[in-house]
Amino acid sequence: MSIEHNIQNLQNRLQATSARLIAVTKTHPIETLQIAYDAGLREFGENRVQELVPKAQALPRDIRWHLIGTLQSNKVKYIADFVYMIHSVDKPALLQEINKQAQKHNRMINCLLQIHIAQEESKFGFDYAEAESFLKSKEIADLKNVKIMGLMGMATFTDNEAQIRQEFSGLKQFFEKLKSEISQPNVAFGELSMGMSSDWHIAVEEGSTMVRVGSAIFGTRT
Ligand SMILES: *Cc1c(COP(=O)(O)O)cnc(C)c1O
Repeated sequence: MSIEHNIQNLQNRLQATSARLIAVTKTHPIETLQIAYDAGLREFGENRVQELVPKAQALPRDIRWHLIGTLQSNKVKYIADFVYMIHSVDKPALLQEINKQAQKHNRMINCLLQIHIAQEESKFGFDYAEAESFLKSKEIADLKNVKIMGLMGMATFTDNEAQIRQEFSGLKQFFEKLKSEISQPNVAFGELSMGMSSDWHIAVEEGSTMVRVGSAIFGTRT
């Protein structure tokens, strides 16, 4: 299947849902991203700063770039002037650094808190209690150059669909709870980033607003 065909297929299947497609372009060359752009996509996700920066420089300005992978504080400065959304905020200190760098460029950066919902220890993120107390803390209101738009989560890598569904549905419930309880000037819960190539269909059924799909569009990465 061609990239164009894969995109069309996914868009058709997402059309009747609340989720939109973020094309995960990591490891793929500029020419491949251009194909996705020409097929109409404008939201791309990358997981490494070193890869994101040259791609953003080479491609059209109307692309919204999403940073979806683990981000080290010392790299925020390289993306602060253009990144559209950071999905992988996994500690308070990182959000503070994003705020500081966004302030230097006199802009707001959209952020999601990454929540650890999988069984694997290797995956990053806040646990539920940490995220809740952080989002309700006074320090959040002082971070005037970030907007916390919602949450991101990655399910366990497993064939067990029931487990994946349970993890996504737990995150959705937590999202709704925080949405109704939190009143901070810079917290506006509207985005729930969950679902990848193997599990986006489950994530969408459980309330995802953004699916991050790579290999189902571009093929397996080498
Ligand atoms: C690579 C990656 C994806 C996309 O994975 P696929 O299985 O290729 O769809 C989604 N989210 C994150 C955080 C990733 O690093």
